[in-house]
Amino acid sequence: MKITITTLLLFFCLLGFAQDSIDLDYYLPQNITYDDNIPKPADIIGHEVGEWHVTHDKLMFYMQTLAEKSNRISIENRGSSFEGRPILLLTITSPKNHNNLEQIRAQHIALTDNGNTATPIENMPIIVYQGFSIHGNEASGANAGLAYAYYLAAAQGPEIDELLDNLVILMDPSYNPDGLQRFAYWANTNRSINLNSDNNEREYHEVWPGGRTNHYWFDMNRDWLPVQLPESRARIETFHKWLPNILTDHHEMVTNSTFFFQPGVPTRVHPLTPAMNQELTAQIGSYHAKALNKIGSLYYSEERYDDYYYGKGSTFPDVNGGIGILFEQASSRGHIQETENGILTFPFAIRNQFTTALSTIEAAKNMRVKILSYQQEFYRNMRTEASKSRTKAIVFGDSKDAAKAWHLAEILKRQKINFHELSADVTLRSKSYKKGHSYVVPMNQKNHRLIKSMFEKRTTFTDSLFYDISAWTFPLAFNVDYAEIESLTNAGPQITDFKPLTGSVSQQSGYAYLFEWHEYYTPRALNQILSKGLRAKVAKSPFTLENKTYDYGTIMIPVQNQVLNSNDLHIFLKEVAEDSKILITGVNTGLSQGIDLGSNDFDPVKKQKVALVVGSGIRPYDAGEIWHLFDTRYNMKITKIDKEYLNSVDLSSYTDIIIPRSSGKISNDKTVAKKLNDWVKAGGTLIGYGNMANWFSKHELMSLKFRKDTLEARDISFEQKSDFIGAQVTGGAIFEAEQDRSHPINFGYKNDKVSLFRNTNVYIEPDKDSYNNPIQYTSQPLQSGYISKENLELIKGSVPFKVQKLGKGRVVLFTDNTNFRAFWYGTNKFLMNAIFFGKIM
Ligand SMILES: [Zn+2]
Repeated sequence: MKITITTLLLFFCLLGFAQDSIDLDYYLPQNITYDDNIPKPADIIGHEVGEWHVTHDKLMFYMQTLAEKSNRISIENRGSSFEGRPILLLTITSPKNHNNLEQIRAQHIALTDNGNTATPIENMPIIVYQGFSIHGNEASGANAGLAYAYYLAAAQGPEIDELLDNLVILMDPSYNPDGLQRFAYWANTNRSINLNSDNNEREYHEVWPGGRTNHYWFDMNRDWLPVQLPESRARIETFHKWLPNILTDHHEMVTNSTFFFQPGVPTRVHPLTPAMNQELTAQIGSYHAKALNKIGSLYYSEERYDDYYYGKGSTFPDVNGGIGILFEQASSRGHIQETENGILTFPFAIRNQFTTALSTIEAAKNMRVKILSYQQEFYRNMRTEASKSRTKAIVFGDSKDAAKAWHLAEILKRQKINFHELSADVTLRSKSYKKGHSYVVPMNQKNHRLIKSMFEKRTTFTDSLFYDISAWTFPLAFNVDYAEIESLTNAGPQITDFKPLTGSVSQQSGYAYLFEWHEYYTPRALNQILSKGLRAKVAKSPFTLENKTYDYGTIMIPVQNQVLNSNDLHIFLKEVAEDSKILITGVNTGLSQGIDLGSNDFDPVKKQKVALVVGSGIRPYDAGEIWHLFDTRYNMKITKIDKEYLNSVDLSSYTDIIIPRSSGKISNDKTVAKKLNDWVKAGGTLIGYGNMANWFSKHELMSLKFRKDTLEARDISFEQKSDFIGAQVTGGAIFEAEQDRSHPINFGYKNDKVSLFRNTNVYIEPDKDSYNNPIQYTSQPLQSGYISKENLELIKGSVPFKVQKLGKGRVVLFTDNTNFRAFWYGTNKFLMNAIFFGKIM
């Protein structure tokens, strides 16, 4: 016992020497009494706020404890992150409101539904959604949440009582559980007792991929609109359930900065956002300014950040009648760092986050009626706008690919947008729409602007700078056919019970089975078939058999000479069809119009073993998108090989190696290039993305001709320099290309045009032989988004895809991202074609 106390004393002494002791009072407002029955963070997590980086499990444990102890707080678990961490939500309001919570919510929603409420607005609470650290390594937000939740649970007096009577606070303590955990581990394991502010200290140089992203290395603050990730799904569900008036998003930015709060750059607000939204944002901002003045913290607004892409947390609410607010705090990364503004400590960063969380709810309390009226007005205007819309509905679908259309409808469902079945098969503007493969979205409905923001194309802009992408037109991302129509005649019943798709085998066959390649999940099916050790072939030409036409890329599985007998094969293929939601047709003859099933125009397809190069220098987002695609969509194993040890790996068993876009140099590149060169020559397929074009070209893996701009700055002042350079960035826009459907890279595409997502300025000259340009940008390629005049000229007629034979193997290049943010379903098949059919290109 004695030893323990001595040890403890010694421990505290050491801490005392190591840094000025941190006290919870440092964060909390002065002259307030606190309820002794509410445990302080340190009582539960074993360290003071800001002393260590809180791990996600400790954070959750504290929040659960608060919910147990405080009648102001209820807690719910809304799902799990990829790594199985709970996605918790705290609802914080007065005990009185808690007893009436469902009624308060229903009334709040009624305000947006029809504008009529039983209670006058003056008596309604305002709804504030506060979320923290969506980028896991911007941890001051989540750590501030400890002190903030404590304050809300424990503060006493008329002020807090009044506040909680007038507010329902939805607190999302960690937007990104897996990222926060990863970062806490990094910062804590590198922390010294003697805190070291030297910028060169390892603590401030996280290893790849860092804690910013989620498990599959996605930037979750881009997923509020596409909702592809489990954490976003939980969040969007809560958002639509409550339609919060204010939503805050607490981030960190570079260490040598101060503090930012919105509004952002006034000229960079999305045109669908009402002007009043920005005015209210600025008024709320005056509360942050006042609070930060009081503690002497420097800050800025109306610079650098914008409110354009609705997939960001602070912009998404703006198209939904709410007000989104971005906070950016200079990051201490670890615990303490030297900066241009002096020593920046982690507690200081936390205190700014805490202070603005508090100024947010003070603003909400004081501006309550004004902001609720704004929301009421927003939806009133929307109803008028929606009822007057000339476009009555949008029809979208893919007559050959039910799954892709289904997944787009799934996003609508998550965004609480109503959609209908197609009443009957129909042809609109020369595209055919098939019932069950198509959906009808009426424009006259509540979330009218949200639909617009998802479906519209936009090519003119008031500014040429964008913080993120400038286009995200969903039907183009999915490469589905779509049409805006001026009546509702094609609309069948509204789909309220959105059922998963099914798959089947038409009949047992003693001869062969066929399936076309168009359906989204066909690569999953093919992989399953090949993994079973079955033989399959791909058709290089279309044919007609038993009155059914089969397109390029049709997969044929003969019955004879397989590892499964005829019965077992049928049973197995039924499982495959159901799992991949495809139709497999059993046929009784090999004699067709066109190529017969025994023709040499059917090429064998082999089981693929794929490696993905990852590690420092590679863009984690791009790598993560590929990993996620293989792992979660196609159930395919993919071996992640770090560049650090790539050189010592025996590559001979791999059929394909993918190198994503890189953000820096590939280190050790001569040796690596030589190794890859030998491996390709022996028969491998090497697939590179974006600026790997330069690397392939430099190391003679591929011969490429680049188009470069010859832009010179004329009459551009020094002050205008960064805007001038920024305007040449292609941050993310959508371009149209023509396809040669007979080329294996285009198998599974039914149209002769495709929409590609591009966020690079790599431009490649087409080959002189047209058959070597299976995908080529049209002469008017811009479909949606921003590109500079100069770059638009460069892209016209250039090619986003190249394949070249090298020895027995192939080198494949995509300049564009075919897997963007998990929602660019429309071009995923290009990568799969390169994997499965690379050999026959
Ligand atoms: Zn951030």
